[in-house]
Amino acid sequence: MSTALHPPQLCGDAKPCPFCGSPALLADIASAEGGTTPRVILYCSNESTLEEGGCAARPRVFAETSVAALEQWNRRAGPNKLIVAQAVNRLRQQAREVAAKDPGNEMVRDLATVFAYIATRK
Ligand SMILES: [Zn+2]
Repeated sequence: MSTALHPPQLCGDAKPCPFCGSPALLADIASAEGGTTPRVILYCSNESTLEEGGCAARPRVFAETSVAALEQWNRRAGPNKLIVAQAVNRLRQQAREVAAKDPGNEMVRDLATVFAYIATRK
């Protein structure tokens, strides 16, 4: 069992939570047996309930030092070009399917605007 020794602090060097985009908090912890490892926890600051828009994943890493915790936390894969490209392709396909059934669909029109913008950014 671990307890927080100091109030958690926002960790500016940590990437935002990969699941909800909230900033990460860093806290020193010590084991109940007297300070054995792990000693630091880095975790998503979004602790609201799901109903209040909280983080569904609530990721956390435990480490012996804040440097090690940061290294682990920032190693997480965020959305990269390949993941985004795959998601865009799926959205295009879904938009085509919706447009076939409902040509005036507002979401499809908005997606077309987004896709056109993305095409100008490549
Ligand atoms: Zn989160």
